[in-house]
Amino acid sequence: MTEDRYSRQTRFSAFGVDGQERLSNATAVIVGCGALGSAQASLLSRAGIGRLRLIDRDYVEESNLQRQILYTENDAREALPKAEAARRHLAAVNSRVCVEAAIADLEPRNAEDLLAGASVILDGTDNFETRLLMNDWAVRETVPWIYGAAVGSYGIVFAVLPSEGPCFRCIYPEPPGGDQPTCETAGVMGTVTNLIASVQVMEAMKIMGGKTASVRRKILTVDLWTGPIREAPLPPRDPACPCCSARDFVWLRGERRAPVSLCGRNAVQIHDRNRPIDLLQLGERLNSLGRVRANEFALWFEAGQHEMTIFPDGRAIIKGTTDAGIARSLYSRFIGN
Ligand SMILES: [Zn+2]
Repeated sequence: MTEDRYSRQTRFSAFGVDGQERLSNATAVIVGCGALGSAQASLLSRAGIGRLRLIDRDYVEESNLQRQILYTENDAREALPKAEAARRHLAAVNSRVCVEAAIADLEPRNAEDLLAGASVILDGTDNFETRLLMNDWAVRETVPWIYGAAVGSYGIVFAVLPSEGPCFRCIYPEPPGGDQPTCETAGVMGTVTNLIASVQVMEAMKIMGGKTASVRRKILTVDLWTGPIREAPLPPRDPACPCCSARDFVWLRGERRAPVSLCGRNAVQIHDRNRPIDLLQLGERLNSLGRVRANEFALWFEAGQHEMTIFPDGRAIIKGTTDAGIARSLYSRFIGN
């Protein structure tokens, strides 16, 4: 059955039976299961990857369905965590793939656990802080990762090959400052996210299939509405790069991390609390103070104009503000210090 299942892929001679064999023994870690991540996960499962680890901190909402191709209306109704909803759907797509769902935010303290064993990492995040953290780990461990981003009708993608080329920090030394367009302010077209995810998966499959020589060593940018599809050469490795030259991994040490405002939301995430929370007990405590609803993965609490989503690991997303101070004070008021 294996032969037939993947026959259209193995008959493509550049990939071949040996590529398939290697892919079936490889592990990809997908960081962020939004539009990019859910397309990546679907493609890699169908392609017959060995093991897939999905990391996502969020849950499915109706506004995701326009582009996040793994999810259904039912997932949004049940507010399932994306990693768990994805795991369930992927099990029906290809039961042979071992899929691990991590309902978590990739952070310095869990990066080692969540990224360990990766043959390749695929970027499905929406923020530079997490990318710089991934980059630190990937450079330290010499594991390739595939950067991808999309907003509006625009997308960008390139592979980071720490064994030979520039790292992400050679190209973006610091997170961009100022107001950046986000998926909420500028919108995003599902066609672009799926195209970028496809390119990311193609490069990842080359690497996992043992065809690293064929990896595109260019920066690919697209504007599917008005603009061109372009390739620009990757710059050389920066000899002054603190990451790949000096091997000073500040993002991995957690020295640069602040509460992160989420893309596409008027929201702040509090993630520096590391203590398990009994959601049942918390729900009983909060019930008299505002509207509470919960499933086995999270608890939602409405506090005035703010809505708090609290996860069992102590993490919380506070909607209705971009002010970290307000978010922290709501956290200590309703959840504790
Ligand atoms: Zn570098």
